[in-house]
Amino acid sequence: MGAFNFIRLSEPCPHCGAGNLSLQFKFASSYDGDKVVGRFYGHTYAVGDRMPWFEEGHREFEKIARHPNVSTTEDGVIRNKGIGRCAECKLDIEFEVLFRDRVIVSAKLIPPSAKA
Ligand SMILES: [Zn+2]
Repeated sequence: MGAFNFIRLSEPCPHCGAGNLSLQFKFASSYDGDKVVGRFYGHTYAVGDRMPWFEEGHREFEKIARHPNVSTTEDGVIRNKGIGRCAECKLDIEFEVLFRDRVIVSAKLIPPSAKA
């Protein structure tokens, strides 16, 4: 529930091999926004992109990682498990996006066999 953004994965679907998978995640998503980029949701990003967010001191600033699937490691890497579905074969896909500050470092599929 709530706002989210999309990421385009470089990896193909593990089941049918379809490319251009676009999946949703929560980190740095908000229905609010600023005058530069507009609202912070519904955008599609790629690895290497820096995500826009509120300036420090804004009342929403601390909410950037306030989602159940977002965690921060001791070395400052932020992990966000995302979900999606292959448009071709309808396979449900889980993936993990890593961020440092607000830059997307990587986005990797979680193999179906590794799911709990
Ligand atoms: Zn597929």
